[in-house]
Amino acid sequence: MTSSTSFTFRDNLLYSIWDKVRSGERLSKEDALALYASDDLIGVGRMANEVARAKSGDSVYFVLNRKLEPTNICVLSCKFCDFAVKPDSPEAYEMTIAEMLSKLRPDLHEVHITGGLHPKWPWEFYIDMVRTIKTQFPNVDVKAFTAVEIDYFSKKFKKSHEQVLRELQEAGLRTMPGGGAEVFSERVRKELFKQKIGAKTWFDVHKTAHRLGIQSNVTMLYGHIETIEERVEHMLRVRECQDETNGFLSFIPLAFQPGNTGIKTRNDFTSAIDDLKTIAVSRLMLDNVPHIKAYWVMLTAEVATIALNFGADDMDGTVGEERIAHDAGAISPMELAKGKLISIIHDAGKLPVERDIWYNPITIYPKPEWSVVSKMPYLNSVPFYNSFPDYSTVVKLVPLAPRVFGKLAEQGSVAAGPMSLRDYMTMSDDFERLDYGVAVKGKANSVLLFSKFDWAELAGKRICISAETSTSVELLRVLLEKRFGISDYLFHRYDKSNPSHSYKDYDAVLLIGDEALQKAYGGGLTGFDKVFDLAEEWCTWKGMPFVFAVWVIRKVTPETARKEIVESLERSLTNSADHFGEFGREHGAKVGMSEAEVSDYLSQFRYRFSIDEHAAMAEFEMEYESLTSNDRIAMSDKRIAKQSISF
Ligand code: SF4
Repeated sequence: MTSSTSFTFRDNLLYSIWDKVRSGERLSKEDALALYASDDLIGVGRMANEVARAKSGDSVYFVLNRKLEPTNICVLSCKFCDFAVKPDSPEAYEMTIAEMLSKLRPDLHEVHITGGLHPKWPWEFYIDMVRTIKTQFPNVDVKAFTAVEIDYFSKKFKKSHEQVLRELQEAGLRTMPGGGAEVFSERVRKELFKQKIGAKTWFDVHKTAHRLGIQSNVTMLYGHIETIEERVEHMLRVRECQDETNGFLSFIPLAFQPGNTGIKTRNDFTSAIDDLKTIAVSRLMLDNVPHIKAYWVMLTAEVATIALNFGADDMDGTVGEERIAHDAGAISPMELAKGKLISIIHDAGKLPVERDIWYNPITIYPKPEWSVVSKMPYLNSVPFYNSFPDYSTVVKLVPLAPRVFGKLAEQGSVAAGPMSLRDYMTMSDDFERLDYGVAVKGKANSVLLFSKFDWAELAGKRICISAETSTSVELLRVLLEKRFGISDYLFHRYDKSNPSHSYKDYDAVLLIGDEALQKAYGGGLTGFDKVFDLAEEWCTWKGMPFVFAVWVIRKVTPETARKEIVESLERSLTNSADHFGEFGREHGAKVGMSEAEVSDYLSQFRYRFSIDEHAAMAEFEMEYESLTSNDRIAMSDKRIAKQSISF
């Protein structure tokens, strides 16, 4: 991250660490040990909170989820596990698929399945479990089976890790939990769980999953016999793997619950200070992992609340039964209702964001006095946000891709942000336009049609549309129909939850934002040898800039919030004017761009609008309104997500 925020620390050693963090330099093992050794807990927490804000704004995510533990019968006997029993134990249980289904509800968004390594269940039972859940509850995404379970299936059913994962994915598995990682230390493994897989196998399984498009989490079980150095080494290994695969969604520090395990720890439970410091150090060390989870079931709701200001940006979910932690003596309530979760997040001064399994926002729950600002998560929008206040009592930032911003704005829960032009055209009664936005005259480099054919040959062809587009898809339609006279094309919305969905099956693919940039600067999209920059096509045709997004503010926004938003925006643009490379460096690195490339890329955009941009918006609106297919499309997101649409 690049931050101008200055802190005063009680511990002088933290100054040099903060300098590194805010200039985007990676922290070393020694830095992590110094953070752990520091008694300036508040200083460590403030740094971590600043890093979390740079990634997630003021958002704290939660998911409506349910945990299922289909059996507690396990072939292993890990020392720290109070959950597993042998088949002859009076406490042993095995759930049928019907019992599992009876615990789910259609309004859930995630089911989290882990359990014992059952000695007798056949492979077909697991496939049937995932497939039946997905079929009966299409809205519920399946996050299932730790690396330990995947490796067990692989050995028991004589299939490779890849084969196991592919078959589960085909049945409906979407992501994997991060359990079984414990602490990546051979010393600890030999002492506590020597029959269980080690770090190498754990990473092999997760790397294979990431390669197949199955993203996952990673946990760290701390507070038992591990040393601080072993915790730091664990984080470093996670960071290294993430550099390679970019497949981890979140890092979850899990405080050890000694219960009846018989394991001697320094204290019965980890201290709140240790818990908070571990969350903060994780956030500071894992610069490439998007989210850090405060797992309230083990931390207690009270410590989890404070952790939301120490670098955590995820509260997990409504959860339901949680036998593993509970049997080992977790003192949190078995179920926190959604309302309770929301009030905990509000108490932390943060914005509750209900999410899906991939962290896409579904609904946000601001306090009535808050005005929510959309933080566009693309490189081209970096210059807008550097001077919004660190903490505001009236304005809260949430990262939203254009299409999601449009949907939430329709729900009435977002007050301002760079809205896609197409959404503004339908919501101008509620929103007022500001003289800011994202426009370009010429190439944009981030709204690209990768094609196997020339424009004139796209008649009757199948075009895949990135899930995030809003205005860009309309620009493509205008170009196809009005500029090139093609009306019989087929649009398909890309569905990343469908493993059989692949770009290569299409004749052309429209990508926007960071994904487009990644391909543009990374050698293109394999199999598509033609690349059309839609903004350039528009400019060549009309001699005008193209406006992708326009800053809007809801007309009823209270004056205090309106003033703060407009002044912050103006200050941000002034600050970043000659520093595009510096402000966009970290974001650019994620998409493979050098600082100089970022600087060139951002310099081409027009962020302050003049008469040129207003004329361009009017021109586009006129072309869009006269599209012959408008009456058939109406571009309902529901419709487009459900089916392919032919024109
Ligand atoms: S931790 Fe997992 S593998 Fe080990 S005994 Fe418990 S349920 Fe079995």
